[in-house]
Amino acid sequence: MKNTVAITRILDDDVEQAVFKALDHLEASKLMKDGMFVLLKPNMLSAKPPERAVTTHPKVLEAVIHWVKKFNPRRIVVADSSAGISRGTTEKVFKESGLQAACESENVEFTPFESTSREIYHVENPLVIEEFPASTLLKEADLIINLPKIKTHGLTKLTCSIKNMFGTLLLGQKPKTHAAYPGIRQFSDALADVYSVFQPALTIVDGYFCQEGRGPAAGDVVKLDIIVSGLNGLLVDQVICNIIGLDPSKVHHLSSCIEKGLGPANPEGLELLGEPIESVKRDFKIPRGSPLAGAPIPRFIANFVANRLFKAKIKFDDEACKLCGTCWKNCPVEAISPPDEMVKGNIPRWDSKKCIACYCCAETCPYEAIEFAMHPIRNAATTWEFYLILAAGIVILVLLIKLIKFIT
Ligand code: SF4
Ligand code: SF4
Repeated sequence: MKNTVAITRILDDDVEQAVFKALDHLEASKLMKDGMFVLLKPNMLSAKPPERAVTTHPKVLEAVIHWVKKFNPRRIVVADSSAGISRGTTEKVFKESGLQAACESENVEFTPFESTSREIYHVENPLVIEEFPASTLLKEADLIINLPKIKTHGLTKLTCSIKNMFGTLLLGQKPKTHAAYPGIRQFSDALADVYSVFQPALTIVDGYFCQEGRGPAAGDVVKLDIIVSGLNGLLVDQVICNIIGLDPSKVHHLSSCIEKGLGPANPEGLELLGEPIESVKRDFKIPRGSPLAGAPIPRFIANFVANRLFKAKIKFDDEACKLCGTCWKNCPVEAISPPDEMVKGNIPRWDSKKCIACYCCAETCPYEAIEFAMHPIRNAATTWEFYLILAAGIVILVLLIKLIKFIT
């Protein structure tokens, strides 16, 4: 069953039926034993209500808790660590996202990872990270169930199974990791290293309400009404890419996972159960990145050109911004600072030279007042069509010049 991925449809908002059906397809009950300690890891990015589709939907969490309880666990813990650096942030997310109410009604423990004891975890065959501190719960659990959500992401294009485990890093550790591994390729390697340490035994993806475009925190909500589940997170993410119309080879952290041997490059042996991909497919608006990020050229050249030609610029919405300070407190490289005067209508100051385009500010802004944009011509230059038209234009121009010379 390792190479099996199940897709089920949520009918009439009956999330539990879809979750149970997906787990039946997978024969996931074979993973379960009496008296287990099961750790559930949702996506708890920031404090938004369920209808904004930023965090794992409480109905998905409740359904999974009901399923786990059938196997008489000795302990169930729901744990995560949100984006941001301030103590108390994850607690706020638990409350706003509806996940706290779900845990309380199910009488299940919930805790921020940063409130638990920690230890140093070592990465086998590291791409970039050799070791990092994380909660001891991750080691003590008999089974980790990953509960990511389908969202697009300005930096990584997709945030789902692999990226959700980045949330196991403790509060202050995430910005430090962004700062230590700037650029999409290095950061993708860091994501693969973190994922490789914990590799959840089971992944159940919340495809109930998703985000496209300005995800993972300020995107448009898409009611996709599916649950996707599998035992290998890399395969699950490859299937998700196919569902949302994103080429998996353009998602660099999936390539980093393949490089680390966390799953097959070409999932020929993949067994898809439940709904066929075509029947649930819906093309998402995918944020554009540098076209050179995946090109077979040395990394420093790709980074150099990307930083000059394809770097997104931050736009602050002066109407929406409340000068709350979250963005400048959470920027890992101090690229944002308060305006000279803290009055309505003023916006934070942004230093493009310092900015590493990590999207932490956009992820944590409570008022969705931060947008990333490229210059329209530069934006067009992120597509292959642009180069095709440019090349065709040059050829036509050369032919015209030759024709004129020939006639005259
Ligand atoms: S942009 Fe967002 S996070 Fe930054 S100060 Fe304004 S409202 Fe706060
Ligand atoms: S300004 Fe925003 S995107 Fe740039 S480094 Fe700071 S947090 Fe990251």
